Amino acid sequence: MFIDSHCHFFTKSILTDTTISFIKAISRRTPVGNAKGTLKNIEMENFIAFIDAGIESTPKKIYTDMALSYEEDFIAVPKMLDLSYASHPSTDEEISPDTYDRNKRLLVRFLHSKETASNEGVINSIISRLNGYTLLLGNNKTYFTKSLFTQINELVEVKNTFQDRVFPFFSVDPRHTEIEGGILNLIKAYVGRDKPFIGLKLYTPLGYSPTDPSLYNSDRQVETVYQWCEKNQIPVTVHFSDQGFSNLLNNHVIEGHVYLPEAGRPVLAKDLYDDNIIKYKSSFPTLKYEEFVKERAISLNHPSLWRMVLEQYPKLKLNFAHFGGSRQILMYLNNSSLAYWTKSVIEMMGDYQNVYSDLSCFDTPNQSYVPVRDFYEKVYLSLKKDERDRVLYGSDYFMLVLFEKNLGSYLKKFKKGFSKEFRHISLENPANFLNLKGIR
Ligand SMILES: [Zn+2]
Repeated sequence: MFIDSHCHFFTKSILTDTTISFIKAISRRTPVGNAKGTLKNIEMENFIAFIDAGIESTPKKIYTDMALSYEEDFIAVPKMLDLSYASHPSTDEEISPDTYDRNKRLLVRFLHSKETASNEGVINSIISRLNGYTLLLGNNKTYFTKSLFTQINELVEVKNTFQDRVFPFFSVDPRHTEIEGGILNLIKAYVGRDKPFIGLKLYTPLGYSPTDPSLYNSDRQVETVYQWCEKNQIPVTVHFSDQGFSNLLNNHVIEGHVYLPEAGRPVLAKDLYDDNIIKYKSSFPTLKYEEFVKERAISLNHPSLWRMVLEQYPKLKLNFAHFGGSRQILMYLNNSSLAYWTKSVIEMMGDYQNVYSDLSCFDTPNQSYVPVRDFYEKVYLSLKKDERDRVLYGSDYFMLVLFEKNLGSYLKKFKKGFSKEFRHISLENPANFLNLKGIR
């Protein structure tokens, strides 16, 4: 028995029909799809496996698929991801012919090689086959559905089926102003002991600040999401790296603090932007996806912002997912001074007794895998005893499938790398984080 502290059970309910059709079109090995080769940095083979593992599946099947690959009894901790506002534009700007043309070329380059993308005839034939997928050209920016309640229902159902094997984390974007009594009311209804959800997941690069007023208040007596979670010792997991996914907007309203690189510290958004509207330098669609995500992560997810949260709520049970991210971990292992995300995880674990960090999605899209044994020897063993008690095993399945198709191999890699300590990071530590008693 072990605990996978970080995985995902979401299905195609999070995607709009047009997005689903597009994904199918590029994965079906049609002339539109670049069937062999890569989709940017991702092997097409993995992309298809990713669709089968998640998009075309159900939460129950995802759990049983994981159990089959693990070949062992295990507990899954699926994290919800509320994408309701990740792609909705704050303004209804008309797309100019120039932008349309640029996006068209980007799309073809995304799907095909540079050479193909410079051939006008090929471009036109691809675009004509892509009719119906115009959203990717920027005409309609809604890629995700408002799936908050669909996801809640899906996870409640899987929880009811696997009572003592599935412990889901709730998630709600603070921008859901339509919820009666605010998001904390909804969280209280679903999260806690004897509730279907055991914890809360936040993913701030989706377009909100770690100090959004519903989460954080400069008066710690005021009841906010963090205050309530701290008081009730509800575990909170936050995406913590400058990689992964972010909102696809070019501008949006932002409340609370953003990190300002020029100042080297968090600044109140209202002091920085007219009408609280953040405007990003990079725009979507883009071929420089990693830089695009990084810009949003630095503004909305920088370690300094999370330090502010911990200064205000020092007993908050907070899991920094991904230990800063695989790119950061690799840099840290190479003694790079740029590895400040990973470095800050270690510092915050030292400063706050309820800070955890999970090792999910250790593999990177660039095929430069993080050596688990190196991490164990150089990072894990250098931590103090009480800090080692707060390192958690996690996979990030089925996101992981984009980079590593075999969940069983992922597990074996960690068992080998951590040897006797694997039990510690995959059972005792997660049980403490989740307040689960009597798991062995
Ligand atoms: Zn994840």
